[in-house]
Amino acid sequence: MARRSWAEPFKIKMVEPLSMTTRAQREAAIAAAGFNTFLLRSRDVYIDLLTDSGTAAMSDRQWAGMMMGDEAYAGSENYYHLEDVVHRVYGYKHLIPTHQGRGAEHILSRMCIKPGDFVPGNMYFTTTKAHQELAGGRFVDVIHDRAHDSTLEHPFKGDIDLGKLRALIDKVGATKIPYLCVQCNVNMAGGQPISLANLREVRALCQKHGIRIFLDATRAVENAYFIRQREAGYAGTSIAQILLEMCSLSDGCTCSAKKDSLVNIGGFLCVNDDDLAEQARGMVVVYEGLHTYGGLAGRDMEAMAIGIEESVQEDHIRARIGQVEYLGQKLIDAGVPIVRPIGGHGIFIDAARFLPHIPREQFPAQALACALYVESGVRAMERGAVSAGRNPDTGENIFPSLELVRLTLPRRVYTQAHMDVTAESVIELFKNAPKIVGLKFTFEPRQLRFFQARFAPVVGSRVLVSEAAAEPVGAKQCCCGGGGCGGRARV
Ligand SMILES: *Cc1c(COP(=O)(O)O)cnc(C)c1O
Repeated sequence: MARRSWAEPFKIKMVEPLSMTTRAQREAAIAAAGFNTFLLRSRDVYIDLLTDSGTAAMSDRQWAGMMMGDEAYAGSENYYHLEDVVHRVYGYKHLIPTHQGRGAEHILSRMCIKPGDFVPGNMYFTTTKAHQELAGGRFVDVIHDRAHDSTLEHPFKGDIDLGKLRALIDKVGATKIPYLCVQCNVNMAGGQPISLANLREVRALCQKHGIRIFLDATRAVENAYFIRQREAGYAGTSIAQILLEMCSLSDGCTCSAKKDSLVNIGGFLCVNDDDLAEQARGMVVVYEGLHTYGGLAGRDMEAMAIGIEESVQEDHIRARIGQVEYLGQKLIDAGVPIVRPIGGHGIFIDAARFLPHIPREQFPAQALACALYVESGVRAMERGAVSAGRNPDTGENIFPSLELVRLTLPRRVYTQAHMDVTAESVIELFKNAPKIVGLKFTFEPRQLRFFQARFAPVVGSRVLVSEAAAEPVGAKQCCCGGGGCGGRARV
Protein backbone atom coordinates (compact mmCIF):
# COMPACT_ATOMS: atom_id res chain seq x y z
CA MET A 1 0.00 0.00 0.00
CA ALA A 2 1.29 3.45 -0.83
CA ARG A 3 1.47 5.57 2.32
CA ARG A 4 -0.26 8.89 2.02
CA SER A 5 0.93 10.52 5.23
CA TRP A 6 4.47 11.44 6.17
CA ALA A 7 5.90 10.23 9.42
CA GLU A 8 9.08 10.97 11.29
CA PRO A 9 11.89 8.74 9.96
CA PHE A 10 13.22 8.26 13.51
CA LYS A 11 12.10 7.10 16.92
CA ILE A 12 12.74 8.87 20.22
CA LYS A 13 15.60 7.68 22.42
CA MET A 14 15.84 10.48 24.97
CA VAL A 15 13.27 13.01 26.17
CA GLU A 16 13.45 16.50 27.64
CA PRO A 17 10.52 17.58 29.85
CA LEU A 18 8.65 20.75 28.91
CA SER A 19 7.48 23.28 31.46
CA MET A 20 3.84 24.31 31.69
CA THR A 21 2.95 27.76 32.99
CA THR A 22 -0.27 29.54 33.95
CA ARG A 23 -1.57 32.50 32.03
CA ALA A 24 -0.80 34.80 34.98
CA GLN A 25 2.81 33.58 34.96
CA ARG A 26 3.08 34.20 31.22
CA GLU A 27 1.64 37.70 31.53
CA ALA A 28 4.29 38.50 34.14
CA ALA A 29 7.02 36.85 32.05
CA ILE A 30 6.26 38.78 28.84
CA ALA A 31 6.06 42.10 30.73
CA ALA A 32 9.42 41.35 32.39
CA ALA A 33 10.78 40.55 28.92
CA GLY A 34 9.80 43.99 27.63
CA PHE A 35 7.24 42.42 25.27
CA ASN A 36 10.01 40.86 23.24
CA THR A 37 9.91 37.07 22.85
CA PHE A 38 13.71 37.06 22.44
CA LEU A 39 14.01 38.22 26.05
CA LEU A 40 11.88 35.43 27.56
CA ARG A 41 13.62 32.73 29.56
CA SER A 42 13.22 29.41 27.80
CA ARG A 43 12.01 27.76 31.01
CA ASP A 44 8.89 29.93 30.71
CA VAL A 45 8.16 28.62 27.20
CA TYR A 46 6.04 25.55 26.40
CA ILE A 47 6.48 25.00 22.63
CA ASP A 48 9.44 26.98 21.37
CA LEU A 49 8.97 28.05 17.75
CA LEU A 50 11.17 31.14 18.04
CA THR A 51 13.63 29.83 15.51
CA ASP A 52 14.92 26.79 13.68
CA SER A 53 18.44 28.06 14.32
CA GLY A 54 20.58 25.75 16.43
CA THR A 55 17.48 24.10 17.87
CA ALA A 56 17.61 20.76 16.02
CA ALA A 57 17.72 17.41 17.82
CA MET A 58 20.94 15.65 16.91
CA SER A 59 20.94 11.99 15.93
CA ASP A 60 22.57 9.19 17.92
CA ARG A 61 25.27 9.17 15.26
CA GLN A 62 25.97 12.86 15.73
CA TRP A 63 26.19 12.38 19.50
CA ALA A 64 28.55 9.48 18.95
CA GLY A 65 30.57 11.77 16.70
CA MET A 66 30.82 14.29 19.55
CA MET A 67 32.78 11.65 21.48
CA MET A 68 35.20 11.45 18.58
CA GLY A 69 36.18 15.10 18.92
CA ASP A 70 39.85 15.60 18.15
CA GLU A 71 40.51 18.70 20.21
CA ALA A 72 43.80 19.58 18.63
CA TYR A 73 44.41 23.29 18.15
CA ALA A 74 45.64 22.70 14.63
CA GLY A 75 44.81 20.09 12.01
CA SER A 76 42.00 18.32 13.87
CA GLU A 77 40.77 15.09 12.24
CA ASN A 78 37.24 16.47 12.45
CA TYR A 79 38.21 19.43 10.27
CA TYR A 80 39.36 17.08 7.52
CA HIS A 81 36.19 15.04 7.82
CA LEU A 82 34.11 18.20 7.57
CA GLU A 83 36.12 19.46 4.62
CA ASP A 84 35.53 16.19 2.80
CA VAL A 85 31.78 16.21 3.49
CA VAL A 86 31.28 19.87 2.53
CA HIS A 87 33.25 19.28 -0.65
CA ARG A 88 31.11 16.26 -1.56
CA VAL A 89 27.73 17.73 -0.59
CA TYR A 90 28.14 21.40 -1.59
CA GLY A 91 30.88 20.99 -4.20
CA TYR A 92 33.03 24.05 -3.41
CA LYS A 93 36.81 23.95 -3.42
CA HIS A 94 37.76 25.69 -0.15
CA LEU A 95 36.13 25.42 3.28
CA ILE A 96 36.61 27.98 6.05
CA PRO A 97 34.71 26.94 9.19
CA THR A 98 33.19 29.70 11.35
CA HIS A 99 31.40 29.74 14.68
CA GLN A 100 28.07 30.34 12.92
CA GLY A 101 26.65 31.87 9.75
CA ARG A 102 27.29 35.50 10.62
CA GLY A 103 30.98 34.72 11.16
CA ALA A 104 31.13 33.70 7.50
CA GLU A 105 29.11 36.78 6.48
CA HIS A 106 31.48 39.02 8.38
CA ILE A 107 34.54 37.61 6.61
CA LEU A 108 32.97 37.65 3.15
CA SER A 109 31.69 41.22 3.58
CA ARG A 110 34.99 42.54 4.91
CA MET A 111 36.94 40.85 2.11
CA CYS A 112 34.80 41.91 -0.82
CA ILE A 113 32.86 45.09 -0.01
CA LYS A 114 34.36 48.59 -0.22
CA PRO A 115 32.65 51.71 1.15
CA GLY A 116 30.17 52.94 -1.47
CA ASP A 117 29.55 49.48 -2.96
CA PHE A 118 26.12 48.00 -3.58
CA VAL A 119 25.26 44.40 -2.74
CA PRO A 120 22.13 43.10 -4.43
CA GLY A 121 20.24 40.18 -2.94
CA ASN A 122 16.86 38.44 -3.06
CA MET A 123 15.38 40.10 0.02
CA TYR A 124 17.47 41.14 2.97
CA PHE A 125 18.39 38.97 5.89
CA THR A 126 19.11 40.71 9.18
CA THR A 127 22.69 39.61 9.89
CA THR A 128 23.67 39.52 6.21
CA LYS A 129 22.58 43.10 5.66
CA ALA A 130 24.14 44.26 8.94
CA HIS A 131 27.56 42.93 7.88
CA GLN A 132 27.23 44.42 4.39
CA GLU A 133 26.45 47.82 5.92
CA LEU A 134 29.22 47.58 8.53
CA ALA A 135 31.66 46.99 5.64
CA GLY A 136 30.42 50.22 4.01
CA GLY A 137 28.10 48.63 1.45
CA ARG A 138 24.46 49.15 0.70
CA PHE A 139 22.03 46.26 0.32
CA VAL A 140 19.71 46.46 -2.71
CA ASP A 141 16.68 44.18 -2.88
CA VAL A 142 16.31 42.55 -6.30
CA ILE A 143 13.77 39.89 -5.42
CA HIS A 144 10.76 39.57 -7.70
CA ASP A 145 7.82 41.70 -6.53
CA ARG A 146 5.63 38.66 -6.06
CA ALA A 147 7.63 37.84 -2.91
CA HIS A 148 6.07 40.88 -1.26
CA ASP A 149 2.51 39.61 -1.73
CA SER A 150 1.68 37.14 1.03
CA THR A 151 -1.49 35.92 -0.70
CA LEU A 152 -0.01 35.13 -4.11
CA GLU A 153 0.49 31.43 -4.87
CA HIS A 154 3.68 31.03 -6.89
CA PRO A 155 6.09 28.09 -6.74
CA PHE A 156 9.26 30.24 -6.72
CA LYS A 157 8.71 33.44 -4.79
CA GLY A 158 12.44 33.55 -4.03
CA ASP A 159 13.30 34.25 -7.68
CA ILE A 160 15.37 37.29 -8.60
CA ASP A 161 13.89 39.95 -10.87
CA LEU A 162 16.43 40.20 -13.69
CA GLY A 163 15.03 43.60 -14.63
CA LYS A 164 15.83 44.98 -11.16
CA LEU A 165 19.31 43.48 -11.25
CA ARG A 166 19.99 44.86 -14.73
CA ALA A 167 18.71 48.29 -13.67
CA LEU A 168 21.11 48.33 -10.71
CA ILE A 169 24.06 47.34 -12.91
CA ASP A 170 23.14 50.10 -15.40
CA LYS A 171 22.74 52.67 -12.64
CA VAL A 172 25.83 52.11 -10.49
CA GLY A 173 28.08 50.05 -12.79
CA ALA A 174 29.34 46.51 -12.30
CA THR A 175 32.54 47.70 -10.61
CA LYS A 176 30.46 48.95 -7.67
CA ILE A 177 28.84 45.54 -7.23
CA PRO A 178 31.32 43.17 -5.56
CA TYR A 179 28.93 40.23 -5.64
CA LEU A 180 25.32 39.18 -5.72
CA CYS A 181 24.07 37.36 -2.63
CA VAL A 182 21.51 34.72 -3.56
CA GLN A 183 19.58 33.47 -0.57
CA CYS A 184 18.16 29.98 -0.85
CA ASN A 185 14.66 29.46 0.52
CA VAL A 186 14.30 33.14 1.34
CA ASN A 187 13.79 33.42 5.07
CA MET A 188 12.07 36.82 5.30
CA ALA A 189 9.76 36.01 2.37
CA GLY A 190 8.40 33.04 4.29
CA GLY A 191 10.88 30.31 3.38
CA GLN A 192 10.25 30.65 -0.36
CA PRO A 193 12.57 28.95 -2.89
CA ILE A 194 14.46 30.18 -5.93
CA SER A 195 14.26 28.05 -9.08
CA LEU A 196 17.24 26.62 -10.90
CA ALA A 197 15.94 28.21 -14.11
CA ASN A 198 16.12 31.64 -12.48
CA LEU A 199 19.52 30.96 -10.92
CA ARG A 200 20.89 29.96 -14.32
CA GLU A 201 19.65 33.19 -15.94
CA VAL A 202 21.04 35.25 -13.07
CA ARG A 203 24.38 33.47 -13.41
CA ALA A 204 24.54 34.29 -17.13
CA LEU A 205 23.81 37.97 -16.50
CA CYS A 206 26.37 38.21 -13.70
CA GLN A 207 29.04 36.42 -15.71
CA LYS A 208 28.54 38.89 -18.55
CA HIS A 209 29.36 41.72 -16.14
CA GLY A 210 32.04 39.92 -14.13
CA ILE A 211 29.95 39.91 -10.94
CA ARG A 212 30.47 37.02 -8.54
CA ILE A 213 27.61 35.11 -6.94
CA PHE A 214 27.68 33.91 -3.35
CA LEU A 215 24.84 31.77 -2.11
CA ASP A 216 23.44 32.18 1.35
CA ALA A 217 23.19 28.38 1.50
CA THR A 218 21.72 28.31 4.99
CA ARG A 219 18.53 26.61 3.74
CA ALA A 220 19.76 25.36 0.37
CA VAL A 221 18.71 21.76 1.13
CA GLU A 222 15.14 22.85 1.77
CA ASN A 223 15.28 24.87 -1.44
CA ALA A 224 16.47 21.77 -3.31
CA TYR A 225 13.45 19.87 -2.01
CA PHE A 226 11.07 22.49 -3.45
CA ILE A 227 12.90 22.40 -6.79
CA ARG A 228 12.28 18.68 -6.91
CA GLN A 229 8.61 19.13 -6.03
CA ARG A 230 7.87 22.12 -8.24
CA GLU A 231 10.35 22.65 -11.05
CA ALA A 232 9.82 20.86 -14.36
CA GLY A 233 12.41 18.19 -15.07
CA TYR A 234 13.58 17.48 -11.51
CA ALA A 235 10.97 15.02 -10.20
CA GLY A 236 13.41 12.14 -10.58
CA THR A 237 16.57 13.90 -9.38
CA SER A 238 17.95 13.37 -5.87
CA ILE A 239 18.06 16.23 -3.36
CA ALA A 240 21.83 15.82 -3.17
CA GLN A 241 22.17 16.18 -6.94
CA ILE A 242 19.97 19.29 -7.08
CA LEU A 243 21.97 20.87 -4.25
CA LEU A 244 25.21 20.33 -6.14
CA GLU A 245 23.70 21.88 -9.24
CA MET A 246 22.58 24.96 -7.30
CA CYS A 247 26.03 25.43 -5.79
CA SER A 248 27.73 24.95 -9.17
CA LEU A 249 26.03 28.18 -10.32
CA SER A 250 27.89 30.24 -7.72
CA ASP A 251 31.43 31.16 -6.66
CA GLY A 252 31.01 30.19 -3.03
CA CYS A 253 28.62 30.43 -0.11
CA THR A 254 28.06 31.50 3.43
CA CYS A 255 26.15 29.00 5.51
CA SER A 256 24.71 28.80 8.99
CA ALA A 257 24.99 25.11 9.87
CA LYS A 258 22.47 25.75 12.67
CA LYS A 259 19.64 25.34 10.16
CA ASP A 260 19.79 22.65 7.42
CA SER A 261 22.91 21.01 8.82
CA LEU A 262 21.26 19.80 12.04
CA VAL A 263 23.72 21.12 14.61
CA ASN A 264 23.36 23.44 17.57
CA ILE A 265 26.33 25.62 16.61
CA GLY A 266 28.49 26.05 13.52
CA GLY A 267 28.77 27.64 10.13
CA PHE A 268 31.08 27.92 7.17
CA LEU A 269 32.31 29.98 4.29
CA CYS A 270 33.15 28.31 0.98
CA VAL A 271 34.95 29.85 -1.97
CA ASN A 272 36.28 28.41 -5.20
CA ASP A 273 38.86 31.15 -5.79
CA ASP A 274 42.32 30.33 -4.37
CA ASP A 275 43.29 33.95 -3.61
CA LEU A 276 40.01 34.67 -1.88
CA ALA A 277 40.47 31.50 0.19
CA GLU A 278 43.91 32.69 1.34
CA GLN A 279 42.46 36.06 2.29
CA ALA A 280 39.59 34.40 4.16
CA ARG A 281 42.00 32.16 6.09
CA GLY A 282 43.92 35.28 7.03
CA MET A 283 40.78 36.87 8.44
CA VAL A 284 39.37 33.82 10.17
CA VAL A 285 42.43 33.61 12.44
CA VAL A 286 41.79 37.20 13.56
CA TYR A 287 38.06 36.96 14.16
CA GLU A 288 37.12 33.30 14.70
CA GLY A 289 40.05 31.00 15.37
CA LEU A 290 42.61 29.00 13.42
CA HIS A 291 41.48 28.12 9.88
CA THR A 292 41.11 24.45 10.85
CA TYR A 293 38.54 25.14 13.58
CA GLY A 294 37.08 28.63 13.01
CA GLY A 295 35.67 29.11 16.52
CA LEU A 296 34.38 25.55 16.85
CA ALA A 297 35.44 22.62 18.98
CA GLY A 298 36.56 19.50 17.13
CA ARG A 299 33.43 17.71 18.34
CA ASP A 300 31.24 20.48 16.88
CA MET A 301 32.86 20.00 13.48
CA GLU A 302 32.29 16.24 13.70
CA ALA A 303 28.60 16.70 14.54
CA MET A 304 28.34 19.13 11.63
CA ALA A 305 29.97 16.73 9.17
CA ILE A 306 27.53 13.98 10.13
CA GLY A 307 24.58 16.42 10.22
CA ILE A 308 25.31 17.64 6.69
CA GLU A 309 25.21 14.04 5.41
CA GLU A 310 21.91 13.43 7.22
CA SER A 311 20.43 16.70 5.93
CA VAL A 312 20.34 15.54 2.31
CA GLN A 313 18.72 12.18 3.06
CA GLU A 314 15.39 11.92 1.27
CA ASP A 315 13.37 10.62 4.24
CA HIS A 316 14.64 13.38 6.48
CA ILE A 317 13.85 16.31 4.23
CA ARG A 318 10.44 14.92 3.26
CA ALA A 319 9.37 14.61 6.91
CA ARG A 320 10.90 17.95 7.80
CA ILE A 321 8.90 19.88 5.25
CA GLY A 322 5.91 17.55 5.70
CA GLN A 323 5.60 18.70 9.30
CA VAL A 324 5.68 22.37 8.29
CA GLU A 325 2.97 21.70 5.70
CA TYR A 326 0.86 19.85 8.27
CA LEU A 327 0.80 22.87 10.60
CA GLY A 328 0.27 25.33 7.75
CA GLN A 329 -2.63 23.41 6.28
CA LYS A 330 -4.43 23.40 9.63
CA LEU A 331 -4.17 27.19 9.79
CA ILE A 332 -5.25 27.62 6.17
CA ASP A 333 -8.29 25.40 6.80
CA ALA A 334 -9.27 27.66 9.72
CA GLY A 335 -8.95 30.81 7.59
CA VAL A 336 -5.88 32.20 9.38
CA PRO A 337 -3.97 34.52 6.98
CA ILE A 338 -0.54 33.00 6.36
CA VAL A 339 2.06 33.47 3.65
CA ARG A 340 1.28 31.24 0.68
CA PRO A 341 2.48 28.84 -0.49
CA ILE A 342 3.67 27.19 2.75
CA GLY A 343 7.44 27.61 3.04
CA GLY A 344 10.20 25.31 4.16
CA HIS A 345 11.10 26.14 7.73
CA GLY A 346 8.04 27.64 9.29
CA ILE A 347 4.63 29.20 8.99
CA PHE A 348 4.51 32.95 8.56
CA ILE A 349 1.33 34.56 9.87
CA ASP A 350 0.35 37.76 8.08
CA ALA A 351 -0.01 40.00 11.13
CA ALA A 352 -1.23 42.99 9.13
CA ARG A 353 -4.26 40.98 8.01
CA PHE A 354 -4.62 39.16 11.35
CA LEU A 355 -4.72 42.49 13.24
CA PRO A 356 -6.20 45.10 10.89
CA HIS A 357 -7.05 47.29 13.91
CA ILE A 358 -3.36 47.82 14.81
CA PRO A 359 -1.48 50.36 12.64
CA ARG A 360 1.97 49.44 11.37
CA GLU A 361 3.52 52.09 13.65
CA GLN A 362 2.35 49.97 16.59
CA PHE A 363 4.11 46.83 15.35
CA PRO A 364 1.23 44.36 14.91
CA ALA A 365 3.55 41.37 14.39
CA GLN A 366 5.45 42.10 17.61
CA ALA A 367 2.13 42.38 19.45
CA LEU A 368 0.82 39.16 17.92
CA ALA A 369 3.92 37.18 18.91
CA CYS A 370 3.51 38.40 22.49
CA ALA A 371 -0.23 37.69 22.58
CA LEU A 372 0.33 34.15 21.28
CA TYR A 373 2.79 33.54 24.09
CA VAL A 374 0.33 34.85 26.69
CA GLU A 375 -2.48 32.76 25.20
CA SER A 376 -0.63 29.46 24.93
CA GLY A 377 3.03 29.48 25.95
CA VAL A 378 4.00 29.05 22.28
CA ARG A 379 6.97 31.29 21.46
CA ALA A 380 7.14 32.82 17.97
CA MET A 381 9.14 35.71 16.50
CA GLU A 382 8.41 39.02 14.77
CA ARG A 383 9.49 39.36 11.16
CA GLY A 384 8.23 42.79 10.17
CA ALA A 385 9.07 46.42 10.84
CA VAL A 386 10.94 45.75 14.08
CA SER A 387 13.26 43.33 12.28
CA ALA A 388 13.65 45.67 9.29
CA GLY A 389 15.11 48.50 11.38
CA ARG A 390 15.60 52.07 10.19
CA ASN A 391 16.65 53.65 6.92
CA PRO A 392 20.36 54.53 7.38
CA ASP A 393 19.91 57.87 5.52
CA THR A 394 16.70 59.21 7.03
CA GLY A 395 16.54 57.37 10.36
CA GLU A 396 12.90 56.57 9.65
CA ASN A 397 11.39 53.19 10.47
CA ILE A 398 11.32 50.89 7.45
CA PHE A 399 7.91 49.33 6.92
CA PRO A 400 8.47 46.28 4.72
CA SER A 401 5.53 45.04 2.70
CA LEU A 402 5.39 41.94 4.88
CA GLU A 403 4.53 42.22 8.57
CA LEU A 404 4.86 38.65 9.76
CA VAL A 405 4.97 36.42 12.80
CA ARG A 406 7.09 33.35 12.23
CA LEU A 407 6.28 29.98 13.77
CA THR A 408 9.58 28.28 13.07
CA LEU A 409 9.88 24.53 13.39
CA PRO A 410 13.02 23.12 14.96
CA ARG A 411 14.16 20.01 13.08
CA ARG A 412 13.30 16.62 14.59
CA VAL A 413 12.18 18.16 17.92
CA TYR A 414 8.39 18.41 18.18
CA THR A 415 5.65 15.91 17.40
CA GLN A 416 2.45 16.10 15.42
CA ALA A 417 0.53 16.60 18.70
CA HIS A 418 2.63 19.72 19.38
CA MET A 419 1.62 20.98 15.95
CA ASP A 420 -2.04 20.38 16.84
CA VAL A 421 -1.71 22.39 20.06
CA THR A 422 0.04 25.19 18.18
CA ALA A 423 -2.66 25.34 15.52
CA GLU A 424 -5.43 25.34 18.14
CA SER A 425 -3.75 28.22 19.99
CA VAL A 426 -3.33 30.37 16.89
CA ILE A 427 -6.91 29.71 15.78
CA GLU A 428 -8.27 30.63 19.23
CA LEU A 429 -6.28 33.86 19.14
CA PHE A 430 -7.54 34.62 15.63
CA LYS A 431 -11.09 34.56 17.03
CA ASN A 432 -10.00 37.01 19.72
CA ALA A 433 -7.80 39.23 17.54
CA PRO A 434 -9.54 42.51 18.52
CA LYS A 435 -8.33 41.94 22.12
CA ILE A 436 -4.70 42.41 21.09
CA VAL A 437 -3.10 45.81 21.81
CA GLY A 438 -0.32 47.51 19.79
CA LEU A 439 3.17 48.23 21.15
CA LYS A 440 5.67 51.10 21.31
CA PHE A 441 9.43 51.07 21.86
CA THR A 442 10.80 51.78 25.32
CA PHE A 443 14.37 50.80 24.35
CA GLU A 444 15.73 50.57 20.83
CA PRO A 445 19.24 49.17 20.16
CA ARG A 446 21.12 50.55 17.17
CA GLN A 447 22.16 47.26 15.50
CA LEU A 448 19.76 44.33 14.92
CA ARG A 449 17.26 46.00 17.21
CA PHE A 450 14.75 43.15 17.25
CA PHE A 451 16.98 40.96 19.42
CA GLN A 452 17.13 43.20 22.47
CA ALA A 453 14.50 45.90 22.01
CA ARG A 454 11.95 46.50 24.77
CA PHE A 455 8.35 47.60 24.32
CA ALA A 456 5.23 48.58 26.23
CA PRO A 457 1.57 48.38 25.19
CA VAL A 458 0.33 51.68 23.69
CA VAL A 459 -2.52 51.64 26.22
CA GLY A 460 -2.68 49.87 29.58
CA SER A 461 -0.10 47.32 30.61
CA ARG A 462 -1.20 44.17 28.80
CA VAL A 463 -0.85 43.00 25.20
CA LEU A 464 -3.88 40.71 25.35
CA VAL A 465 -6.87 42.19 27.17
CA SER A 466 -10.14 40.56 28.16
CA GLU A 467 -12.38 42.95 26.23
CA ALA A 468 -11.88 44.04 22.61
CA ALA A 469 -9.12 46.66 22.73
CA ALA A 470 -10.27 50.24 22.33
CA GLU A 471 -9.19 51.79 19.02
CA PRO A 472 -5.50 52.43 19.76
CA VAL A 473 -4.29 55.98 20.13
CA GLY A 474 -3.36 57.43 16.76
CA ALA A 475 -5.04 54.67 14.70
CA LYS A 476 -7.03 55.79 11.72
CA GLN A 477 -9.67 54.01 9.70
CA CYS A 478 -8.32 51.81 6.95
CA CYS A 479 -9.31 52.64 3.37
CA CYS A 480 -12.14 50.16 3.07
CA GLY A 481 -13.44 50.80 6.58
CA GLY A 482 -13.56 47.11 7.43
CA GLY A 483 -9.99 45.85 7.27
CA GLY A 484 -10.69 44.16 3.94
CA CYS A 485 -7.69 45.94 2.47
CA GLY A 486 -5.52 43.95 4.88
CA GLY A 487 -5.11 47.05 7.02
CA ARG A 488 -2.15 48.10 4.92
CA ALA A 489 -3.76 50.95 3.07
CA ARG A 490 -4.65 53.32 5.87
CA VAL A 491 -6.02 56.72 5.03
C1 LIG B 1 20.37 32.28 10.43
C2 LIG B 1 20.70 32.88 9.15
C3 LIG B 1 21.92 33.54 8.94
C4 LIG B 1 22.90 33.81 10.06
O1 LIG B 1 23.37 32.65 10.63
P1 LIG B 1 23.73 32.54 12.20
O2 LIG B 1 24.21 31.13 12.31
O3 LIG B 1 22.49 32.82 12.96
O4 LIG B 1 24.80 33.52 12.47
C5 LIG B 1 22.17 34.02 7.67
N1 LIG B 1 21.29 33.88 6.67
C6 LIG B 1 20.12 33.27 6.83
C7 LIG B 1 19.17 33.16 5.70
C8 LIG B 1 19.77 32.76 8.08
O5 LIG B 1 18.58 32.18 8.24
